[in-house]
Amino acid sequence: MQECDANPPGYPIVRRIRHLRTKRYLSAYIDDEVPTRARPGVVRHLSECPECVAMVESLRSARAALRRVVGQPVDPLAAGRIHRYAVSIDDAAGSSGGDGFAQS
Ligand SMILES: [Zn+2]
Repeated sequence: MQECDANPPGYPIVRRIRHLRTKRYLSAYIDDEVPTRARPGVVRHLSECPECVAMVESLRSARAALRRVVGQPVDPLAAGRIHRYAVSIDDAAGSSGGDGFAQS
């Protein structure tokens, strides 16, 4: 079977599969830890998927917020909200019962 890289119109299932595949790597992407073999596909998908781009921006914002509070006393209420947000991101990234991190 030959796989077409062009993501042709009329094949939304192909886009959907790439979307789901890419979502697994978004956390690794913002940490620049996407496996070399997967990186071109992730970058290509991000050039065509506003939903994944928005998720990357959201992850970066959350990461930046966490960096700002590191070393400062943590409000338990804020910690709970951050934890719930992280769990929701992990769920949205397509974690399938694992730890939410892409396997390399
Ligand atoms: Zn996507």
